[in-house]
Amino acid sequence: MIKLSFGYLTDVGVVREANQDSVFAEEPLFAVADGMGGHQGGEVASAMALEVLDKTFNKSNSKEDLLEAVRKSNAKVWDKAQLEESLNGMGTTITAMATVVDEDGNEVMAVVNVGDSRAYLLRDGELHQITTDHSFVEDLVQAGEISAEEAETHPKRNILTRAIGVEPTIEADIDLIPHKHGDRFLLCSDGLVREVADSAIAATLRKLKDPEEAAKDLVAQAKANGGSDNITVIVVDIIDDAAPQEATPQRKVKTAPKAPKVKGPRRFTFRSFLFFLAAGALIGAGVGGVAWYARAPYAVGLEGDQIVIYRGHPDQVLWFKKTVAERTNVNVNQVLPANVPTLQKGTTKASLSSAHAYIANLLEEAAAAGAIAGADKVPSVPTETTTTTTTTVKL
Ligand code: MN
Repeated sequence: MIKLSFGYLTDVGVVREANQDSVFAEEPLFAVADGMGGHQGGEVASAMALEVLDKTFNKSNSKEDLLEAVRKSNAKVWDKAQLEESLNGMGTTITAMATVVDEDGNEVMAVVNVGDSRAYLLRDGELHQITTDHSFVEDLVQAGEISAEEAETHPKRNILTRAIGVEPTIEADIDLIPHKHGDRFLLCSDGLVREVADSAIAATLRKLKDPEEAAKDLVAQAKANGGSDNITVIVVDIIDDAAPQEATPQRKVKTAPKAPKVKGPRRFTFRSFLFFLAAGALIGAGVGGVAWYARAPYAVGLEGDQIVIYRGHPDQVLWFKKTVAERTNVNVNQVLPANVPTLQKGTTKASLSSAHAYIANLLEEAAAAGAIAGADKVPSVPTETTTTTTTTVKL
């Protein structure tokens, strides 16, 4: 069993009169929620969302269980908002993390996100953002219309594109992260990231060994920098099995002054620490009979006999609006017949590199099965075996 050590703090900040953030931290479930809506709506929404999340997550240790908890959370907040006029329009973000057992029987961290609270991972001294904000400005960034820096000061940066409780159903992103000893996870509301630069967050997480100290310090920095919003921080450390549960984790905290890679396209930085073989990550569609939809902007499909990579519009469910991003020189008869139906249907990928990895894997599979006619015709796709595993599920 994985051992965790954690610390957390929520604070009203310097400017606001009420704290509309809520926090839940009790192994194996951790969550932050940032509520919105006047007349106490924000507080009610975030508190209720996490209460339902905790009650519903029955610790069966599956990602389906965590997704079900988020689904119920949404349904309850939505119902409450409909029933009470003063709470109409309330909603909340949720960023939740739990240890779950994946299909191969391995314990992994599952991170579910709706809205613009965030999850990060500090691994080997580098900070990686796990979640993608569901916000108007993030869509603009993804579409290449503004930079990440411009997004930080954009007048419409408060507009969310997804939230808990504002519609009867929601879409949630889920990431499964194979963790390792020394990993440090951070969950936080936007009140932290608006005030404290990612580089400073990374430096603090590297410096302060005790998770509670780190959480307190991050909140203090946000307040010192203006504290214009409520601030919530959870820091969760992965302690290896051998360590006694009550002992202070003997983590190696890297103090290397190397600049953390926190800016730039996240899906590309994120993939660098995921060790899923492309093969394993790709069979994600339709797990447990649930319909999975990718918000991912890319997809691999067929145009005639040719395998092509499509680019979707980030605002749309991919297939409503797609253009060909890249034509490969891979013919459908170069892959295993078993993979053809998936290609005919089209399969979404979070990034161009994961689309490449997927195609490379199809060819590898075919080659392994001795079914490939002209292995020399293999296109020059990157050979990396890591890919992001973010999938979006309708709940
Ligand atoms: Mn906030």
